[in-house]
Amino acid sequence: MKANTPIDQLNKVGKATARRLERLGIRTALDLLYFFPFRYEDFSRVAFIAELMDGENVTIKGKIEVLGNKRSWKKGKMITEALVSDSSGSVRVVWFNQPYIAKVLKPGDEIYLSGKVKSDMLGPQFASPAYEKSNRDETTHTARLVPIYPATEGLSQKQIRFLVSQVLPLAEKITEWLPEEFLEKNDLVPLPASLKGIHFPVDEIDLKKSTERLKFGELFLLQLKAELTRREKMAVVAPALSFKEKEIQEFVKKLPFTLTKTQKVATWDILRDIKKTVPMNRLLSGDVGSGKTVVAAISMLDAVLNGYQAVLMAPTEILAKQHYDSLCKLYEGSDVKVGLLTRSQALNFQFSISNLQSISNDSVNKRKKSLIKEIKDGQVQIVVGTHALLSEKVEMKNLGLVVVDEQHRFGVEQRKMIKNKGKGAHFLSMTATPIPRSLALMIYGDLEVSTINEMPPGRKPIITRLVESHNRQKAYDFIRAQIKQGRQAFVICPLISNSATCNAQCDNGQDDTGCTLHVTRYASTVSDEKKAVLSEYEKLSKTIFPDLRVGFLHGKLKPTEKEKIMDNFSTKGGKNHVTDILVSTSVVEVGVDIPNASVMMIEGAEKFGLAQLHQFRGRVGRSSNQSYCLLFSDSLSKKAEERLKFFEKTLDGFKLAEKDLSMRGPGQVYGTLQSGLMNLRLAKLTDTDIIKKARETAKTIVADLNNFPSILRKIKEWEGNVHLE
Ligand code: ADP
Ligand code: MG
Repeated sequence: MKANTPIDQLNKVGKATARRLERLGIRTALDLLYFFPFRYEDFSRVAFIAELMDGENVTIKGKIEVLGNKRSWKKGKMITEALVSDSSGSVRVVWFNQPYIAKVLKPGDEIYLSGKVKSDMLGPQFASPAYEKSNRDETTHTARLVPIYPATEGLSQKQIRFLVSQVLPLAEKITEWLPEEFLEKNDLVPLPASLKGIHFPVDEIDLKKSTERLKFGELFLLQLKAELTRREKMAVVAPALSFKEKEIQEFVKKLPFTLTKTQKVATWDILRDIKKTVPMNRLLSGDVGSGKTVVAAISMLDAVLNGYQAVLMAPTEILAKQHYDSLCKLYEGSDVKVGLLTRSQALNFQFSISNLQSISNDSVNKRKKSLIKEIKDGQVQIVVGTHALLSEKVEMKNLGLVVVDEQHRFGVEQRKMIKNKGKGAHFLSMTATPIPRSLALMIYGDLEVSTINEMPPGRKPIITRLVESHNRQKAYDFIRAQIKQGRQAFVICPLISNSATCNAQCDNGQDDTGCTLHVTRYASTVSDEKKAVLSEYEKLSKTIFPDLRVGFLHGKLKPTEKEKIMDNFSTKGGKNHVTDILVSTSVVEVGVDIPNASVMMIEGAEKFGLAQLHQFRGRVGRSSNQSYCLLFSDSLSKKAEERLKFFEKTLDGFKLAEKDLSMRGPGQVYGTLQSGLMNLRLAKLTDTDIIKKARETAKTIVADLNNFPSILRKIKEWEGNVHLE
């Protein structure tokens, strides 16, 4: 057998089994070898029958005395009964609905039985234990730490174990790529042994050692890659942007609010970083509504005051427009010239808020052309836009600072392009997805993180309720009452089931973000979501709230239409809103700021991740009005209910992200932000000791990687799949 031996050439793998394996991503023998168990059942204790105790998980070795099938009087179920004995006594055994056992096992066979003991008046008994003939040296299903594999739809654990044991000899042939000295120094077992040990550990120690070695390998590569990226970055020189204290202080004084303490600290962090010629690489993390935009605005102002340009990139056109509006307002009265450039005709620019009214009537293309020219000449100092900014036509005169909002919503390719475009500039990314420090370290290596961990004063905690279906009408009445008081409401439509996979995994399939990973599935998502929005809109506008003004928003609308819809819903600048209720897909998730909205109603809430729900919820509660988040769900599993109940009582985005993390895994929670993590099969955020060791080791060799050809090869192999910032 070879590493690339197709899976259907294994013993007992037919077409159906091969298909099921493929669904788990297993196509070759090597894939199977790297399909790791997620837990183990400890049946390593082999006891005498006379010692069996009620309730214990244990193995016995004995001889089958009698064995036969009979039909139970209840529902005609087939029962296989046996009596097994050893030198100390005998035990009764039953299996349900597995009549073939009577063909596999015969009286007189010596077998192992592993399972939970149940004792009654007639003595000990095993119900449906695992069994295995004891004539071989090594056991697979009994009398050991038995591996349990993750979700194996249509495949039994026994089948998987049997298949894995077939490819196990392959482990011997896998070459160790970590140099001997690293293994020694970090007290690691060699790769072949660890591959064996992760599937069929001899004992707990073997398991621990094997797991450690494999995790180390994963984390080492990740850290090495991060270190390489960092060195590349350090080799580049960025402009030293001095702190224009007087002007910045003036600007801050004129803001309509006082900065919170953590906003100040974050701003200070950034201003200190960009003074240096080492390019800044900082992540600004802060819960939705915590006020990240103004921090970016101050930083960009500093760049402009130094005679450099700044770019603010947003993942959607709606958000870009909104940032543009906010910046124009914040910079009102100053000389700062802001432009907005997006892919579509939403293109639109002016130099300051004062000529807002005088947008030229030129065609979009003409305006775009002249804007691009002004960017190139340096007349426009701050450019807000979507990834349209990445096109070759857009050249900056002297870019000093790049700010990327919700960076993880950009596709992998786009992020690479942002990096390229911003070469030699300082880099700030902003996210509302709270990133635990350990995770940031693990993914980004030396990325710096600033956190805004408080809300602007005066906000009331949002009241969240999971609404039971018999209370639906009451909830509608409540919404109507809110609207009668002058408030507005968002209604989020559920994800369509086949799009749920895409969304759960990449969290990126919306608006004009263009999820590059799942682009085909995304296409179907958008039209499905459109359907969902239109039918919800029908229902609400015709039946439920015929007296109220309802609008809708989905990804298939033209950007100009979207802008109009948002404008109708907006109360910016003290104007009256035209729409009371906005039915929408998850496009409103990112960033929109409608302080007058006080109700966020979410249909099919169970389909969304907690972090995503938190984003939705963050759309309300942005003023001093009491706000509400109402969750609806038609099919609640126990687990889903647990998640939503947790969400109900937890307002801290950080805690929610951690809960999501523990319930759904990092790949799902952080989506493409950590697509690198998808390649971590074993390592976890909590493996801080191993992370540290891996980091230290990676640092020692990064300067002369060429002396480590096996590691170089491994890194190359990884580069195909892993994307780091
Ligand atoms: P996010 O961090 O989600 O991007 P925003 O930057 O959109 O948050 O800010 C949310 C709202 O809070 C905006 O309307 C903004 O003007 C307001 N805001 C920001 N900082 C403060 C502050 N220190 N005090 C009061 N309001 C603030
Ligand atoms: Mg924001």
